[in-house]
Amino acid sequence: MVNKSDEIILKGRLNGNQKNRLVKLLDMMYSPSELAGEIGFNKRQVYRVYIPLGCPHEKDSKGRHWINGEDFRNWIIDLYQKRVLKHNEAFCLTCKKPVRMISPERKQEDRLFYYLCNCPNCGRRIARIITRGKPIDDKS
Ligand SMILES: [Zn+2]
Repeated sequence: MVNKSDEIILKGRLNGNQKNRLVKLLDMMYSPSELAGEIGFNKRQVYRVYIPLGCPHEKDSKGRHWINGEDFRNWIIDLYQKRVLKHNEAFCLTCKKPVRMISPERKQEDRLFYYLCNCPNCGRRIARIITRGKPIDDKS
């Protein structure tokens, strides 16, 4: 069973329209429903996805969440960028970050091509699917 390490679909990833709306966010505190309204997602996504993933927020004395618009924008852009792999990287699910592939083995399973290597940090066996038409450059 191949771990499709570079095909992680990050829950809560914003689509193009939602990303364009990020610029509207100001350096002020938003409630989850205000933030959801500005960007155009369901406010439950804030509680179920963003806060568990480490979205910067504050809680007031009544237990309500407040999120700074600029902090949210920077945080979500950064989160998204971390999931973009360079040509010589694979995503390690243990380290939860892209890691450099050291002497990967090229494998084939039916029509699926992938690289197998060990994570240089934790040793976990990780795979990266070779996207058709975008082979990984072995020279690096
Ligand atoms: Zn690792």
